[in-house]
Amino acid sequence: MSYDIASIWAATARKRPSFPSLDTSVKTDVAIIGAGFTGLSAALHLAEAGTDVTVLDSRDPGFGASGRNGGQVIPGIKYDPDEIDRVYGEETTEFAGRTAEFTFDLIRRLAIDCNAQRNGWIQASLKSAHLEKLESRARQWEKRGAPTEMLSTDQVQVLTGSDAFKGGWLDSRAGQLHPLNYVTGLALAAQAKGAAIHAGTEAVRLEKLSSGWRIHTKSGASITAAHVVVATNGYSGELLPKLRATVIPANSFQVATQPLSPDQLSRILPRQTPVSDSRRLANYFRIGPEGRLMFGGRGNFRDDPAADDYRKIIAGLHWIYPELAEAQIAFRWTGRVAMTYDHLPHLHQPFDDLTIALGYNGRGLALASALGAAIGRHIADRSQPLPFEFSKINPLPLHGMHPYYATMAIWYYRLRDMLES
Ligand SMILES: Cc1cc2nc3c(=O)[nH]c(=O)nc-3n(C[C@H](O)[C@H](O)[C@H](O)COP(=O)(O)OP(=O)(O)OC[C@H]3O[C@@H](n4cnc5c(N)ncnc54)[C@H](O)[C@@H]3O)c2cc1C
Repeated sequence: MSYDIASIWAATARKRPSFPSLDTSVKTDVAIIGAGFTGLSAALHLAEAGTDVTVLDSRDPGFGASGRNGGQVIPGIKYDPDEIDRVYGEETTEFAGRTAEFTFDLIRRLAIDCNAQRNGWIQASLKSAHLEKLESRARQWEKRGAPTEMLSTDQVQVLTGSDAFKGGWLDSRAGQLHPLNYVTGLALAAQAKGAAIHAGTEAVRLEKLSSGWRIHTKSGASITAAHVVVATNGYSGELLPKLRATVIPANSFQVATQPLSPDQLSRILPRQTPVSDSRRLANYFRIGPEGRLMFGGRGNFRDDPAADDYRKIIAGLHWIYPELAEAQIAFRWTGRVAMTYDHLPHLHQPFDDLTIALGYNGRGLALASALGAAIGRHIADRSQPLPFEFSKINPLPLHGMHPYYATMAIWYYRLRDMLES
């Protein structure tokens, strides 16, 4: 399987350190499999609590979604606050509402140089019919103290530089950053606090011991740990086949244009506020490094996407910004988001000493950072609360058909978006 990571982030990242692979067997208190936001934030907070922690990634820290995403730091989960209160309780709503603030505070505390800007996020609607729902969402967060603002048609058109939108809302808790520099900064911060981080180290088997676990790696080296955290998200493989079958690893596609001219930058996203639209299959866009417009969305499902798979994303970009129809597409890349049937992140603890978190449904930058921290603190001190209850590992039926499921789901959502317009 090959992955295209010719991303704008890889091209503009600060020099990335190389982390050694694990070549001798070791013993640790907590072993973490997966060096993305979830695993590294858990590692950092464990190390800060004085726990001996070892992180493994089959590739590099940030190889997964964490180093490839849109860099939009958005609080919340799929559901609106009143519904989260009703189903999960106010603590979960409070947690979900604070994930962006948590992330920006963490970056400031650790002095991570990742171009973090807390300049808000706009959810913009292409359809007047969505505005009532967006207004209700904004009001519900506002009632809980969040700085939000409804945007008129004129306001949203000025802030996006596109006349495609009918209105929207601005969430000032949010913002944007350079995700690859952020995830690398997290890895370095965890390492500085004492965590051992190993790249190029694939966990291939988990063996339950009378107390704790032994993780067998592809190279033959093993790790004995009192507690294991699995944070492999959309890149979960055969290590825990049942876990893998709980999520649909859908591709999210992104492109970045040539640098825009100063004149274009004065019209297109003039305040550089990141945007998502409000459809089921949303497009998301922002100004990225070097003044390039970055545009992304869900595409066809394939392990190895071809040039044609970017067609819909580029058509969406041209539709929102017709003046960019001739702009060169300089970068294109994909990554895997882990979709869950209930659109919520899943937290599992099938054994007292095995914790698993995954399934951020494409909105995991802030959420995984905050959830990883909560997991780390909880393992170090069991009296520390977790924001979600543990659920059972429930594989989706006929999971082997997931490329077809994902494609069908995308067609279904696309059709509903079209029928509503
Ligand atoms: C293209 C794209 C755009 C996105 N845009 C946004 C956005 O703008 N805002 C937002 O909030 N969210 C966004 N997301 C979602 C967000 O990036 C993810 O939710 C988040 O990064 C998940 O982090 P994670 O640490 O759980 O998983 P990942 O970052 O995917 O990390 C999992 C890691 O596990 C490793 N691994 C897997 N199996 C093994 C094994 N057996 N042994 C060792 N290591 C293993 C992988 O190599 C990988 O590095 C986007 C995602 C994508 C793909």
